[in-house]
Amino acid sequence: MIIRNARVLTFDRDNRVLESATVEIGAGGAIERVEEGLRASGQGQGSLTPNPQSLTPAPDVLDAGGRLLMPALINCHTHLYSTLARGITLPGRAPKNFQEILKKLWWRLDRALDEDDVYSSALVGLIDAAKSGVGTMVDHHSSPNAVAGSLDVIERAFREVGLRGVLCYETSDRDGPRAATAAIAENVRFVERARAAGDGLVAATFGLHASFTLSDRTLRRAVEAAGGLGAGFHIHVAEDRSDLEHARRRFHKTVVRRLRDLGVLTERTLAAHCIHVTAGDVASLARVGAAVVHNPQSNSNNAVGVAKLIELMRGGVLVGLGSDGYSPRMWEEFKTAFHLQKLRTGDPRVGYAEAYAAAFLNNRTIVRRLWGMELGRVEAGARADLILVDYDPPTPLEAGNLFGHLLFGIANAPVDTLIVNGRIVLRDKRCITVDERAVAERARRQAEALWRRF
Ligand SMILES: [Zn+2]
Repeated sequence: MIIRNARVLTFDRDNRVLESATVEIGAGGAIERVEEGLRASGQGQGSLTPNPQSLTPAPDVLDAGGRLLMPALINCHTHLYSTLARGITLPGRAPKNFQEILKKLWWRLDRALDEDDVYSSALVGLIDAAKSGVGTMVDHHSSPNAVAGSLDVIERAFREVGLRGVLCYETSDRDGPRAATAAIAENVRFVERARAAGDGLVAATFGLHASFTLSDRTLRRAVEAAGGLGAGFHIHVAEDRSDLEHARRRFHKTVVRRLRDLGVLTERTLAAHCIHVTAGDVASLARVGAAVVHNPQSNSNNAVGVAKLIELMRGGVLVGLGSDGYSPRMWEEFKTAFHLQKLRTGDPRVGYAEAYAAAFLNNRTIVRRLWGMELGRVEAGARADLILVDYDPPTPLEAGNLFGHLLFGIANAPVDTLIVNGRIVLRDKRCITVDERAVAERARRQAEALWRRF
């Protein structure tokens, strides 16, 4: 495929912005060439009016019509199983803290999920993600009454929509020893399966819920099982103060220290949240090389606190960005990450570097670590995970002022096209890989039945 007539944000070493460029994608789904100028773009590119249909291009030539082309976004922590909770009514009084939110909403919902719900949730969540320019999602799944094979069902949804995914099952003791054993088995099975598939679209980590729902015994079993596979962990860490208090009360140490001592934190581990961490914890995270994933909108919604992004990053921790299932729009997470650091510190000078690094530099580094996959750049050798955005900059756009355009312009602009691994997923703002309306109709029926069981 050749994409021509695009204004390109390369996110390469020099962060080049190309006024009008041609991007060639090989049959294997990698970018083969990025060329500035109008070469290979035929006639008519001088037109100021974007009109992709005007040239009736050959099937493998996509005229970007002057749109902005940049890497597809990455979501490093999400829960696709939460999608069908949209609009659900909770019985009784509104949950007043994090533990009540889990008990009254998420742990009731996940227990009610069957395989069809898991599939529909995933499809809806993936379509939403595609429409907001996300090409890769790192998912954390839970369905304690439909554990075995649940990750295959999610994988099927990823392949149908055409997004890239890193999947895991959330091991926990909260539903009893049988569910914990089934969860460990599902992780082991899927890590092996994803490795065997080896096509780069779906990969696996080993999922763990959180310190406060996991016994030492279960954590040791998980570490032993994962160790033989070379898989990293994906776990919630110190999201709420209650997690820290539990670890201090029961184990006389912080959550980070407990997990480190048990061998859960490695350079392939994703530690979601890390809000209630000490300076010593930050040093530990940096020393072992575990990545932290910040989820600012979910944290705001649950009123659990604000991660100390500045201190974590200055302390040498790799911090990426996720949504925790709160929103498919990583642009909103990017903005909220930026705003929260200003509010937290009372300093209008901070937040720029941290939000930018988390969303555009660290997420791609996390994916490379988990997967060995080069994403997040428009340059030869990287995977062709790209978006075309309806953004015609009304002010000069160059390498040095990208942040302002991302925050105030591109974040608000419609995503027209999404390409993942060289395959078009979204075109003219519609998913072309699946029937969006049929998926929504089916999901509504599933949700109705699910809410009755909830
Ligand atoms: Zn989460």
